[in-house]
Amino acid sequence: MKINYIKLADCSGCMMNFLGIISREDIEIAYCPNLVDRREMVNADIGFVSGAVCLEFREHTELLKELRDKCKHIVAVGSCACVGGITRFCRGNQSPQATHRTFLPVSDIIEVDYAIPGCPASTEILKKFIDAYLKGNERYLIPFKSLVKKKRANGQDLQDEIVSKGLCVGCGMCALSCPVEAIEMIKGLPEVRMDKCIRCGTCYFRCPRNFLKLRKENAEVI
Ligand code: SF4
Ligand code: SF4
Repeated sequence: MKINYIKLADCSGCMMNFLGIISREDIEIAYCPNLVDRREMVNADIGFVSGAVCLEFREHTELLKELRDKCKHIVAVGSCACVGGITRFCRGNQSPQATHRTFLPVSDIIEVDYAIPGCPASTEILKKFIDAYLKGNERYLIPFKSLVKKKRANGQDLQDEIVSKGLCVGCGMCALSCPVEAIEMIKGLPEVRMDKCIRCGTCYFRCPRNFLKLRKENAEVI
């Protein structure tokens, strides 16, 4: 299977975890400016994208459009690509300033087929996604398809859709991953201070329980 990978505005964490799968014999990294010495993008089965899109950097939108044209499926990897993630710091709760840049999730620019959660997306989930894709395991891929619909997420979504529904197991990953420390674990459960939340969506995409809700939604749709 041929893979193109482009990295936009992010911390490089998803790319670092992607390195854990590139030695597989059943995939070929056909294009990835950070890893492969090839200047031209080629036709591929999957186009992976990590990082948010910076609108002031024209190359991002051009790369994305080319990726969409050349790949059968597009996969947004990690919270920045899916919902903006850490790049929300650039606007967040701040008053607009002339120096601010504008960052968007990938699905605001091109059609995305799958979204892989995590901040960063783990090597393990990338590996499992590729296994399922290669085997055509549509059932396993359902949550990844459903997560594409989640274009925005904030601490209130975590509270409403996971904690309040009794899905939280108190692992604390949301609190650990919040870049502005807006989440405090109290008696084993997260409490979000929305006055501090910059709506980066990281806690929601980092939570290992967000797939459960999506599975249920899909079961109802099916
Ligand atoms: S609570 Fe923290 S991690 Fe969650 S969306 Fe707000 S700022 Fe991001
Ligand atoms: S990451 Fe999810 S399961 Fe873990 S404490 Fe936060 S809300 Fe609960």
